[in-house]
Amino acid sequence: MTKFGAGKMNVDPEALHKKYLLERDKRLRSDGTAQYIDMVGELAAYAADPYLGPDVDRAPATEQVDVLIVGGGVSGLLLAARLRHATNGTLRIIEKGGDFGGTWYWNRYPGLRCDVESYIYMPLLEELGNIPTEKYATGQEIFFHCRALASHFGLYADTFLRTAVTAARWNADSARWLVETNRGDRLEAKFLCLGTGGLSLPKLPGIKGILDFKGRAFHTSRWDYDYTGGSPRGDLVGLRGKRVALIGTGATSIQCLPALAESAQEVIVFQRTPPAVDFRNNKPTDPDWASALQPGWQKDRMVNFSSILQGLPVEENLVADRWTDIWTTLAGMGGGEGEDDGTDPMQLADYKKMEELRSRIDAVVDDPRVAERLKPYYNLFCKRPLFSDEFLQTFNRSNVTLIDTDGRGVDRITETSVIVGADEYPVDCIVFATGFRVGVPCYEAGGFRVVGRDGIDLSNRWADGVRTLHGIHVHGFPNLFIVGSRTHAALSPNFTHFVDEQSDHIAQIVARCLDEHIRTVEVLEAAEDMWAQMMAAVAVDRATFYEECTPSYLNNEGATDRPSYFGAAYHAGLLAYVDVCNEWRKTGFERDLDIVHEPQLSLHERPGELRC
Ligand code: NDP
Repeated sequence: MTKFGAGKMNVDPEALHKKYLLERDKRLRSDGTAQYIDMVGELAAYAADPYLGPDVDRAPATEQVDVLIVGGGVSGLLLAARLRHATNGTLRIIEKGGDFGGTWYWNRYPGLRCDVESYIYMPLLEELGNIPTEKYATGQEIFFHCRALASHFGLYADTFLRTAVTAARWNADSARWLVETNRGDRLEAKFLCLGTGGLSLPKLPGIKGILDFKGRAFHTSRWDYDYTGGSPRGDLVGLRGKRVALIGTGATSIQCLPALAESAQEVIVFQRTPPAVDFRNNKPTDPDWASALQPGWQKDRMVNFSSILQGLPVEENLVADRWTDIWTTLAGMGGGEGEDDGTDPMQLADYKKMEELRSRIDAVVDDPRVAERLKPYYNLFCKRPLFSDEFLQTFNRSNVTLIDTDGRGVDRITETSVIVGADEYPVDCIVFATGFRVGVPCYEAGGFRVVGRDGIDLSNRWADGVRTLHGIHVHGFPNLFIVGSRTHAALSPNFTHFVDEQSDHIAQIVARCLDEHIRTVEVLEAAEDMWAQMMAAVAVDRATFYEECTPSYLNNEGATDRPSYFGAAYHAGLLAYVDVCNEWRKTGFERDLDIVHEPQLSLHERPGELRC
């Protein structure tokens, strides 16, 4: 047995490897991703939008536009903003929710924050003259920023809110996309952009008896403030005297637990797998720092962050957060000094990092038995790294009980209780912090069929695997652009940086098509092949890593027959992806697209179009 030291951290790689596999095996299930159930049928009420005011009647629309964007989340919003800069073309946005924001519209649970620094996460701060109030902004502040962006770019007038697309079909004769909605709209669009989101489908665990529960139950992305009282800031007065079950201990759970514990009589946390939680170190924005910022500061900061994550040299780590720390200690590699008995240096660094997080639990949680149950035994990137300054501390409260199911999960729900093994826990309310269907294709996230040239359905086109150019264009689907999907595109914890760059790229392509009176553009199959080869050339093989991981959405809950969430991306880094797109607009546009021009018409001669 070899022990490696890093400061005060001692690890035994062999023992940890065995322990990690043992913990994984406890959690592997034959039903994999099928253990989760969608909010449909008898569970449809879970998906209802709790934030809507009274409905506003509007007549079904029949119109033609240049660009139709499905989704008013961060992707649709940024694409619309970039289009506003790039073209005078007409625009229509269709959004299911009652406002812009996507994830930030739906998720309003108390304690919600983004754990990517607000100065690089909240997009277009300089354009809006906005400075976030804290290093890690609340969900509410980000949601308000999304609304401010929509107002700033005049998008409300061009948007159908509370409207869901039900079908999109390419019409070759008119060279338009025909789009229908659940409000009877029939829209024709020259260009269709799908920004249907990565976290749009909340999921429930298929726990036996879930329908039997007679108390109040809801998913964190549909927070029931009518019942809990209070607001995203907490003070959930409706929970006074109530016993609350919190099911799940992922990114969402660790944020809402502290607020639940402050208001409820008792919170019982049902844990299947312990989360790996580092500190976050939030702080208010320093006004002197903010007032000294020079024009262009936000882009510089975003690029600085992404450079570090891509392993590029930087003079200074401007963001200096836990993400950049993880990347420099783990991905920068080696875990530093120490003898080597053949253990991969990255793995060694991971063991040490996780040991550090386990020690932190001992330091923060008073009861050693509770601390032991909260310790995660898997590699850090088997799940999304988490950061909180309050989660672990909450277990020191007398009204918070941890029920560790040792990997099994909750066994059953009855009319009144949550059951684990032989123990019954009567509760008034169940909060499901059980996540989303992550990594689903854009048509599935949107919940409608996308039918391209020759009647090909996108789901059929991708039946044997996704094929795209840059994660944006698909052969057989003229004038279609996918925005904000990481599949075949760049990975970055700073999602908005990726989407902003991709939106800028798509907006420039659309603007060029409109300017040059291009009727249709369709990517060639050869270009999809070329992109597959380019992705393969930089692919990092993490198959064994994910096979050995504890189950999560990142490894399809342990199923190894499909590529992992990260496996289907371009691995060279976000800035490399941006370089590829920039270069492609200069040299690839005409090479890789089948381009058909239309007879030139002046703008006022184009029939039936709205101008904005
Ligand atoms: P997750 O998928 O991360 O967590 C779901 C939780 O539910 C897990 O702890 C899971 O256990 C548990 N669970 C599932 N089934 C059962 C069961 N039968 N019994 C008991 N527990 C069960 O969902 P989240 O909503 O927490 O996060 C989803 C994603 O949303 C994140 O990965 C992140 O991308 C994003 N997010 C980002 C935030 C940020 O920026 N701060 C905040 C919140 C979310 P197990 O681990 O065993 O599967």
